[in-house]
Amino acid sequence: MINAISIDLEDWHHPELVRRHVRGDPRPQAREATERILLLLDRYRVKATFFLLGDVAARDPELVRRLHGEGHEIASHGMSHRPLWELSPSGFDEELKTFGRLLRGILGEDVPLRGFRAPTFSLDDRTKYALACLAENRYLYDSSVFPFRNYAYGVMDAPCGIYRPDFNDLRGTDERSPIVEFPLTVYQRGRLRMPVSGGFYLRVLPYPLIRRLLRDVNRTRPFVIYFHPWETFPGTPRLKSIGAKDSFITYHGIDGCLAKVEKLLRDFPFEPMWDVIRRQVR
Ligand SMILES: [Zn+2]
Repeated sequence: MINAISIDLEDWHHPELVRRHVRGDPRPQAREATERILLLLDRYRVKATFFLLGDVAARDPELVRRLHGEGHEIASHGMSHRPLWELSPSGFDEELKTFGRLLRGILGEDVPLRGFRAPTFSLDDRTKYALACLAENRYLYDSSVFPFRNYAYGVMDAPCGIYRPDFNDLRGTDERSPIVEFPLTVYQRGRLRMPVSGGFYLRVLPYPLIRRLLRDVNRTRPFVIYFHPWETFPGTPRLKSIGAKDSFITYHGIDGCLAKVEKLLRDFPFEPMWDVIRRQVR
């Protein structure tokens, strides 16, 4: 079983709990933070999927060319990092079109853009219109549905494995759907569901537990790990103004995160999202 590795490439000031507290023009760190990840991937000879934020690509086209040149898959994380809850269908469509123009300008007309991940996993019952927008813009897969509900996002009871979603019901499947959904991985046992493979959960859970749960997931399906360059980078500014709870959610475990990613690379085989999906669906 080969699993998917994905990096949501945004800068330290983009996350939902941080962006409202940032003043002035923040100093970019996305390139520095991403370079350490690229070295690690190279050492393990693994290609990944980078869900790239348009705002970062526009500031650093050289970084985009490097990712593409090193054989990683380029996918979209939108333009502005505004969650889909804040965008209308036409606003979302405009973001996809602007992102497409930007990437074709950097990488050439024939760059394939197949995958999308919504900022803050904001694709849920309120924003399922996004699937039709993605299909109209010729995307082939989405990886935004979190089949677990927490304080901010998630679609409880959505399928846990790769599926073709019914555009009117994210919990339902439709074999004719033009979009494949690769949900964020949760461990499932009976009615229990537990996120395990990325972001806050990757930073906060002890590695031996993560490994045990992911091995269990691998008995029936591939998993996807996800993380952000800023959450693996010791130099990420820690804003005190976001408050104690949001600070814990956003910054806890940053210093040990890249070491956990390395252990995952050592213990499991990985490839880009699209390669995993191609093997799983007809
Ligand atoms: Zn993001």
